[in-house]
Amino acid sequence: MPEILELGGLDALIAALRTTGYRVIGPRMADDAILYDDIQTIADLPAGWGDQQSGGHYRLRPRGDGALFGYTVAAQGWKRFLHPPRQRLFAAHRTEAGFELAPPAPPEPPLAFPGVRACELAAMAIQAKVLGDDRRPFIVAVECTEAGATCFCESMGTGPEIKAGYDIRLVEQKAPHVFVADAATERGAALLAGLTVQTDRVPPRAPVAMGRVMPTDTAMRLKAYPEHPRWDQVAARCLTCGNCTMVCPTCFCTTVEDITDLTGDHAERWQHWDSCFSVEFSYIHGGAVRTEPKSRYRQWITHKLSTWFDQFGSSGCVGCGRCITWCPVGIDITEEVDAIHEGRAQP
Ligand code: SF4
Ligand code: SF4
Repeated sequence: MPEILELGGLDALIAALRTTGYRVIGPRMADDAILYDDIQTIADLPAGWGDQQSGGHYRLRPRGDGALFGYTVAAQGWKRFLHPPRQRLFAAHRTEAGFELAPPAPPEPPLAFPGVRACELAAMAIQAKVLGDDRRPFIVAVECTEAGATCFCESMGTGPEIKAGYDIRLVEQKAPHVFVADAATERGAALLAGLTVQTDRVPPRAPVAMGRVMPTDTAMRLKAYPEHPRWDQVAARCLTCGNCTMVCPTCFCTTVEDITDLTGDHAERWQHWDSCFSVEFSYIHGGAVRTEPKSRYRQWITHKLSTWFDQFGSSGCVGCGRCITWCPVGIDITEEVDAIHEGRAQP
């Protein structure tokens, strides 16, 4: 039986998560964008705000209603909480007996994420598989009621409907302003108990129109086109800034950096995000093997869409559209694959 969660119930749910010991991360407005960060109550959510996204373009827009989850996806994904941009791997101090390792940092509190979209759930599953991460954040998934102009999750089979992988799933309704709720896990049901009322009338889901389409057959076969002339064309525009890899919820590459202080008595090793767009990333045996922007862009998109299947058994793209929105020159991953689409006249 479907259940209805009212606004007060959502507030109580966030409070219950915090009381249970979770660090609750949700959508909020900051820096003229919607970002995921710590929230305390529903007053922190971006009520009445949506976004406009297109190639190289992002703006907040007032929606004219009080929707709490009326945006598409936040500028950055949940990746930065599950796979942080910088992490200290260890620290060591010189003592009379030699170097001693500093004690590890105390364990972080478990994480709860209210506001996860279908594509983001798919991205978390991909990253967990790649990184062998068996942590399971508490997921309060919220279905998209409208898609952004850069979204193409439908092509990738990752959305917009949320089907699995959540603890609690919500569908926001406007009039009256409530959520249709259901739980898929025991811990979800336990937290939802007492906060909802049962209903026998669930409004039908409105269709969510995608802004982009990915030609997936060609995408899967990109590795067959290493010499396609399109690589030169896209390389002429690409700044190799790496923005696309930073905002992508599945990109996982890192590098390590060793640091010592001036005395040489204290040393640390840090892991931080790296990108296939940096020259140093392909440094092996005395030189980088991908020195040209063309080879770096080709590596990124070919791995993401094609050779990822060989490595991990799925696409590395979930169709969230962030790499299109946050590319400063508006390079569009769907347009690039479309340009290579078999049967199309060569450019
Ligand atoms: S495709 Fe766009 S975001 Fe990615 S490296 Fe090139 S210019 Fe930067
Ligand atoms: S490649 Fe682009 S659209 Fe695909 S998951 Fe990464 S950021 Fe999203």
